[in-house]
Amino acid sequence: MSRPELIRDPAAWQRRCTDARDAGTRIALVPTMGYLHDGHLSLMREARVRADARGRPGLSLATIFVNPTQFGPTEDLARYPRDLDGDLAKCGAAGVDLVLAPDDPGAVYPKDFQTWVDVAEVSKGLCGDRRPGHFRGVATVVAKLFGLSRPHVALFGEKDWQQLQVLRRMAIDLDMGIDVVGMPIVREADGLAMSSRNAYLSAEERGRAVAISRALGEAGRRAAAGERDPVALAAGIRAAVEAAGMRVDYVELAHPETLRPVERAVPGTRVLVAVFLGKTRLIDNVALP
Ligand code: AMP
Repeated sequence: MSRPELIRDPAAWQRRCTDARDAGTRIALVPTMGYLHDGHLSLMREARVRADARGRPGLSLATIFVNPTQFGPTEDLARYPRDLDGDLAKCGAAGVDLVLAPDDPGAVYPKDFQTWVDVAEVSKGLCGDRRPGHFRGVATVVAKLFGLSRPHVALFGEKDWQQLQVLRRMAIDLDMGIDVVGMPIVREADGLAMSSRNAYLSAEERGRAVAISRALGEAGRRAAAGERDPVALAAGIRAAVEAAGMRVDYVELAHPETLRPVERAVPGTRVLVAVFLGKTRLIDNVALP
């Protein structure tokens, strides 16, 4: 498939999207930070389908922007992996029509920028506690991308489960009228959740990383066999990933939408983990069966 058109200037992008919307075109959006893998591409393929859903060709949009406001001061903003050329080829193969990739964060956040979106409750706990300001940065940039792109539907991965809940809440609370769709986690053959940050892992670390999804799978089996105690299930996961030489950032069993910790593990309870494998922070989650 052909390469999508690349637009660098957010104002030009907004004009393009507004014209399409005014002409009655259905618009689907996939925001990313680039360095694309099959997880991202699954969202883009679904965006193509949803854009075209009304029986005439819609507009499938992707954005590639490493958003500085969602990184903490000691995080990996400067070394976040980038490959715009490769990403454009992948977007084309996944049916994306237009890609916005601002070349300068200043084009997205001008000097006098001062408006922030804070989704108060769902942003608490889990990554919200460990990465102060992270979800404020995410919600703000996605609100801006929504305003620039005027989509009918936007697709996000369940890999970032808390982010998905934050963005759903934001779209509802701010009456954005955008359908926020969550898509299943795409995994490597051995079960590791695909992530741009997997590129940081050495071959030896990559081998050990499989312990994360295995531990989540084992927790699912224990729950299916009748274990209802979230503390016991979390302890099993913690022990398994620590045995593989990882440092646990959190292991929690939470309500799938409110993300408040649960006292009893039931079907649908979300099990969420964040670990450090060497210097690399990885996250994953599953629903209990
Ligand atoms: P990122 O580039 O990491 O900001 O991710 C962009 C979008 O892709 C987010 O909605 C992520 O949740 C989604 N995503 C990342 N990894 C995966 C995966 N393994 N499976 C499904 N979606 C993913």
